[in-house]
Amino acid sequence: MSRYIATRAIRGANALVTEAETMLSQALAEKGPDLPVSFPNTAYYLPVIFGMTGREIETLGQLPDALAHARELLHPVPADQHWTPYLGETLDGGMATLIAAEVIEAVRYVYGLQPELMPGFELAGGTSFTSPDMNGDGEAGSNGHLNGAIDDIQLRSWGIQLVDGRMPGFAAIVGCAKSNEAAVQIVRELQRRNILTFLSGNVNGRSIIDQLVEEGVELGYDTYTVPFGTDTISAIYALGFATRSALTFGGMKGGQAKEILHYNKDRVFAFVLALGEVDDLKYAAAAGAINFGFPVIADTVIPQILPTGITTYEHVVSMPWNEIEGADDLERSERLVQKCIEVRGVKVQVADVPVPVPYGSAFEGEVVRKADMRIEMGGKGSRCFEYLRMAKLEDVTDGQIEIVGPDFSEVPEQGSMDMGIVVEVAGRQMEADFEPVLERQIHYFVNGASGIQHIGQRDITWIRVSQKASDVGFDLESFGKILHARLHSDFGAIVDKVAVTIYTDPEQVDQRLDEARAAYDFRNKRLEDLTDTAVDEFYSCTLCQSFAPNHVCIVSPERLGLCGAYNWLDCKASFNINPTGPNQPIKLGRVSDVDTGYWEGTNDYAKVGSHGVVEEVAMYSIMENPMTACGCFECIVMLIPESNGVMVVSREDTSMTPAGMTFSTLAGIAGGGIQTPGVMGVGKYYLASPKFISADGGFKRIVWMSSVLKDTMAEEFKVVAEREGDLELIDRIADERSVGSVEELVAWLEEHEHPALTMDPIF
Ligand code: SF4
Ligand code: ZN
Repeated sequence: MSRYIATRAIRGANALVTEAETMLSQALAEKGPDLPVSFPNTAYYLPVIFGMTGREIETLGQLPDALAHARELLHPVPADQHWTPYLGETLDGGMATLIAAEVIEAVRYVYGLQPELMPGFELAGGTSFTSPDMNGDGEAGSNGHLNGAIDDIQLRSWGIQLVDGRMPGFAAIVGCAKSNEAAVQIVRELQRRNILTFLSGNVNGRSIIDQLVEEGVELGYDTYTVPFGTDTISAIYALGFATRSALTFGGMKGGQAKEILHYNKDRVFAFVLALGEVDDLKYAAAAGAINFGFPVIADTVIPQILPTGITTYEHVVSMPWNEIEGADDLERSERLVQKCIEVRGVKVQVADVPVPVPYGSAFEGEVVRKADMRIEMGGKGSRCFEYLRMAKLEDVTDGQIEIVGPDFSEVPEQGSMDMGIVVEVAGRQMEADFEPVLERQIHYFVNGASGIQHIGQRDITWIRVSQKASDVGFDLESFGKILHARLHSDFGAIVDKVAVTIYTDPEQVDQRLDEARAAYDFRNKRLEDLTDTAVDEFYSCTLCQSFAPNHVCIVSPERLGLCGAYNWLDCKASFNINPTGPNQPIKLGRVSDVDTGYWEGTNDYAKVGSHGVVEEVAMYSIMENPMTACGCFECIVMLIPESNGVMVVSREDTSMTPAGMTFSTLAGIAGGGIQTPGVMGVGKYYLASPKFISADGGFKRIVWMSSVLKDTMAEEFKVVAEREGDLELIDRIADERSVGSVEELVAWLEEHEHPALTMDPIF
């Protein structure tokens, strides 16, 4: 253990705790102890303080006590002589630093100083719903602010990717890179591996965030790069994220510090990358990160800390920039990132996709604006469709990519052209049922290419290619290469051969489109016929057990997984790809109650799968043995007793519900893998299923619903309204625009003659 590091970390910790105390007493004097403090949209209070100490901080007046705890953790700065630096004291100092940093950010939120203002800056992607009016200036969206704290909604929506390994870990970058080129390259290297990247800190006033913004790199949730703030203190949000991962997915409770820290060390593959000079505060913050088992890699000369027993890997690694081998900053950046991954043992799997642009899931959310566009297929000016079909092994030449028609060099800039993508897939394990499962992946596969934007599916596909991508040689053939590479790498178990034909000749597009539409129709009918009573097995999904150890989703044709990402066909395909994987067939066996949804097979499985926590699961009821939830649900359904019905809250809705709780707070009640009658997490397409809480009266029980669901599911709900024999049904359902309390809800229901009022009592 280096005395140098201990000295500087403890000195930094002392200074920050003192700073927090000064700030806090001023805030208390100005605002009083009762003023609420919180980070936006989280049910976990100030998450590090909550996780580590169990304190549920809600007001300024509760902060001094938390800070006093931080002060207790402080040890004197080591004397120059006769002192043997001790790791424990350094780690304590690190923890004190985290608490002080969180207190400081909480006070800054009170003053509207978080998220930090950066004029002209815009967060990438749809932040308007995830971050409504974050800074309290009355306007939604980022409007010139950095991200600040991550909200629970985003944490949970990354959940699935963290669970299934698509997102192998996170990097907390603090400081400023040697050059703008290096900054961009480091981030690209991380994005390419789908590693979530948190950005904060500066060196002499210049931050990596400035560097990336100058280079036009899109930052935000959608591109896996979250700019917290330009000072070191904002790096606290990374540890708040880590703490909440353990609380959300690991089912831990506030105050279980040891468990939370272990969870992170064992399951969250994160590391800190310190770019540029390391000052006292950075040493102190690094000591905080080491508590979580997150190693620190610096690109400057600093003493190293070798494994000590907390971990089997180094805690602090120095990799001085000038000593990194490489022809230029780009190569050095690559090596540096590679080193970080090695030290922490991040398990990265990347498909080798032979296209001339960066490729990885982190680019999926990129937007190509009209002004930056070379060409588009689909949208207003042209037609575009995609169609994947199964073929006989002997009829497919693997890797064949054919272009039928002209390429886009003839089309004027920012013009549009027709395109049809037809993929032929052959394999011994391939089944016609898997066609839609694989076809749906085209969206993700194509979107993974930087500079390509893919929206929609089937015959409403809409693709844009950026000028930049086209300049470096991205062409029609590239689409084929992507699909060939990804189908093999992701679905190798069912796919032996892949051939792609790209049609651009308008006449050919016409013909192929007719064929594709006939196939879409056929599949739709097949799906309609695919009911729970038409099959003799459902599927389990235990993918989320790595985070929620006792939770099982039971997926039936008429009830998809609560995350919305896995329906019955997906599970069936997944089982074929990986017969010992998370999706196993559940033989239904004897039915004991077809209305409530009990089978011998499902009940037996629920017991085994939940490790005895759950005895029985009803497939179609929210009131009796409802299915449990992890944390990934798209919507929460909850009983409102006064209304004789239920409300449905969307993950995307941050408003206050009539139950007096927001989605974030409700999520804490619905998740965790335990049965709570009256509360259930569901996938949004289950709402439109004839089996939606059919044992409790079905869709007509919905009395309140987030408006975003009404908007995005309008087509599906029209069908439901017809099915239920009441074309006005959706208009009778209240939402957050009209109703904010139970009293208002009941009045609304009476005024709009909602059917729930005259139905049998729900319990
Ligand atoms: Fe998790 Fe259920 Fe989705 Fe599977 S179906 S990934 S268990 S939420
Ligand atoms: Zn889950």
